[in-house]
Amino acid sequence: MTVQEIHRRFVAGELSLVERVEQFLKAIDRQQLLNAFVEVYREEALARARALEIRREKGEALGPLAGLVVAIKDNICYQDHGTTCASHILEGFVSPYSATVVKKMLAADAVIIGRTNMDEFAMGSSNENSYYGPVKNPHNPEYVPGGSSGGSAVAVAAGMADLALGSDTGGSIRQPAAFCGVVGLKPTYGLVSRYGLVAFASSLDQIGPFGRTVADVAYFTPTFAGHDPCDSTSVPFEIPDYIAQLKDLPQKLTIGLPEEYFQEGIDPQVRDRVMGAVEALKKQAGITVKPVHLPLTDYAIATYYIIATAEASSNLARYDGVRYGYRAREVEDLQEMYFRTRSEGFGREVKRRIMLGTFVLSSGYYEAYYRKAQQVRRLIKEEFDRAFQEVDLLITPTSPTPAFRLGEKLDDPLKMYLSDIYTVTVNLAGICALSMPCGSTEQGLPVGLQIIGGPFQETRLFQCGHLLEQLLGP
Ligand code: GLN
Repeated sequence: MTVQEIHRRFVAGELSLVERVEQFLKAIDRQQLLNAFVEVYREEALARARALEIRREKGEALGPLAGLVVAIKDNICYQDHGTTCASHILEGFVSPYSATVVKKMLAADAVIIGRTNMDEFAMGSSNENSYYGPVKNPHNPEYVPGGSSGGSAVAVAAGMADLALGSDTGGSIRQPAAFCGVVGLKPTYGLVSRYGLVAFASSLDQIGPFGRTVADVAYFTPTFAGHDPCDSTSVPFEIPDYIAQLKDLPQKLTIGLPEEYFQEGIDPQVRDRVMGAVEALKKQAGITVKPVHLPLTDYAIATYYIIATAEASSNLARYDGVRYGYRAREVEDLQEMYFRTRSEGFGREVKRRIMLGTFVLSSGYYEAYYRKAQQVRRLIKEEFDRAFQEVDLLITPTSPTPAFRLGEKLDDPLKMYLSDIYTVTVNLAGICALSMPCGSTEQGLPVGLQIIGGPFQETRLFQCGHLLEQLLGP
């Protein structure tokens, strides 16, 4: 059943929400090993389900998420609930307000079942950087689920929630969606409010959805997207009715294949599955496919890791032991309190990023690194603009490899960073992209395909993704 169908049947009185929540809670308990949740709102979710059933019995109007169960990443604030970004430094922090996306989902009558595990402060590609331990891939628990929104991807993939929210700064929704075999969307920068999302790299961060199918994600997105006066970077853009237009993909569509995304470093099985899907679009749907060039792809990782770390070093300066969460005990003076709080509170990867970011912003290196990276970022955006004058959408693999083994890349940050090579450019350009399953490897691990669109082209992403789902079958 699609989430739209579940919602319809709940409203029609054909489904019990209390039973649905109980089933999800059982699935969470049964799969503790996957470590997908930091906290489960057990009693609260059941109470809310009962309250919604009473409102239904009274014949009250119900919102579009009534009947549905959602999980949120542990970097999205929910009033009177803990938010830790899976970091020791935010241990014990209780959010005094709710993120706009949370307010909107509650207003749409969602049940929020818990907050999901993630890489600390959303920094990582494998979910091994969590203070609460790694998340495991439901297809094979010896493998990583991808990161940083691994918990949210697993929650949907393993039947612990209907839908989930994650955040994507350089691939953190799309890459775990690919590794876990679900659908994930990185919306256009400004489509979704970041108010209440704990900032990692503010010019790249965007909240986005996970679902089992493209239709589920298309149904879910309008319930939390849209302009927000509390976030000056959110865009006053009328959110289209994605579901109503899902089947209206124009016949005369042209899809571009960026050659640079299919070259060295790509796993042959990933290339094969993605090309298989492209062939289906060509042969069965008559869609025009042509090669395009994005030569600046070579500079994407370097540019991203300069800009993301620079912004992170600034955003994470606020965790000083005074205002939030953890504070080191038995200190002599203020200096030592700062020093020990941050030394004890942050994990290795977060410290690495703060040091890198502080370095690229320092007066001697600012021009050489940070300014240069900003200039290259602009060129990358212009390169996409040019590509979208020739083609409507781009198709690429989501990640060069399927899920890898736990521990495999932990000691080699550069290798880890390279798993984002196909996703970071989209954040640098501020555009949108969808990751969806396109088959599995011989080892039974999902392969993800990425559809990239220009600004606010989400409708097209959903249409193309939905068509592909029909062509590829379950
Ligand atoms: N894996 C990338 C990083 O570590 C992307 C993270 C993200 O999108 N939040 O920065």
